[in-house]
Amino acid sequence: MKRDDILDWLHEEDGRRLGGLWRWADTVRGDNVGEAVHLRGLIEISNYCIRQCGYCGLRFGNHELERYRMNEEEIMACVGEAEAYGYGTVVLQSGEDYGIEAKWFESLIGRIKKETRLAVTLSLGERPDEDLETWRKAGADRYLLRFETSDNDLYRLIHPSLPGRKSNRLAILKTLKKLGYETGSGIMIGIPGQTYASLTQDLHLFQRLDLDMVGVGPYIPHSQTPLGQGKWKRMISKRDQVPNTEQMTYKVIALTRIVCPEANIPSTTALDTINREQGRELGLRRGANVVMPNLTPPPYRTQYEIYPSKGGMTEVSPDCHSLLNHRIHSIGRRVGTGRGDRVHRGRTTSPFNGMDLSFSDFIGKNKNYKLRGSKIFGLLL
Ligand code: SAH
Repeated sequence: MKRDDILDWLHEEDGRRLGGLWRWADTVRGDNVGEAVHLRGLIEISNYCIRQCGYCGLRFGNHELERYRMNEEEIMACVGEAEAYGYGTVVLQSGEDYGIEAKWFESLIGRIKKETRLAVTLSLGERPDEDLETWRKAGADRYLLRFETSDNDLYRLIHPSLPGRKSNRLAILKTLKKLGYETGSGIMIGIPGQTYASLTQDLHLFQRLDLDMVGVGPYIPHSQTPLGQGKWKRMISKRDQVPNTEQMTYKVIALTRIVCPEANIPSTTALDTINREQGRELGLRRGANVVMPNLTPPPYRTQYEIYPSKGGMTEVSPDCHSLLNHRIHSIGRRVGTGRGDRVHRGRTTSPFNGMDLSFSDFIGKNKNYKLRGSKIFGLLL
């Protein structure tokens, strides 16, 4: 998709045309990754962090937050739950916490790989290359590291480097690929100071990086952060500012699907947080194919407060688990089995792979899309 087209879609407000975008994204999703919704059990293993990110409640400078780090048995208990629920993957996420020692974590990964058939996804921030290599050798399958924004000035403002170590997430993504991880990245939508032009560039970058996983969610202000308090500011005109709205999030999910047809794309917790009734389902109907139910034990879950009131439908208990399954079936989808690895269909196999298609091409090639759309997704039109 051309940059100008992306930019036009980001500005689009017409309901009918947006309905077309949702159907386009949903068709590309169905053709490339199918009807399965993969469930990844999220375990937030530590909220310690050495970073001072302007947006995140886990930042070192937030002294209001009580800190925790889960031990091996606690983590393994959550891993056991993921298996019992039939998930294919666990995602181990934390602040950038060097209290999570590389060696200790290596043996934990080894244990999960030995005792279960789960894929292991890591999201531990900007760890040194040696750690990433050690963990890959221990059997870790995937790594998530959002670049947050491709706008350099904005990134430097909201994500200060550590002394003597310039933050370069794109370089780390390259290393992850080289090490053989399935590699995921993503952004926040509506960061104060984020322009439409930079968001367009973010989407273009997703495409260029050929990411295996892409997570996008709305920026949610946290009152214990400089960005949330309006202290760190970048002056842009009101007209240029991307809103951190639900609608904008759906546009970005849909466009992400169109530019990265084969990627695994979650309907994120942040989206669930801003619309607890329907956010998760609408994300799934507009391009997403992954849900990450939260398996973190309750006392820790509230302390993993990257932004306020995190959660909603991601709560997991046996009841919630069957409700989630029910909701997935109710939108005409099925719960994925197996690990849910990235598919590689090749760029020529699908008539809707989206990479080079325009919207009018899509309508031309899929003349009955209205029929399909209204039959399955009638309520949404
Ligand atoms: N320490 C890891 C994991 C961070 S939490 C890392 O830095 O990669 C995962 C994601 O949550 C972040 O990448 C960021 O995109 C998102 N996040 C953090 N603060 C947020 C906020 N206030 N609103 C919305 N998303 C936020």
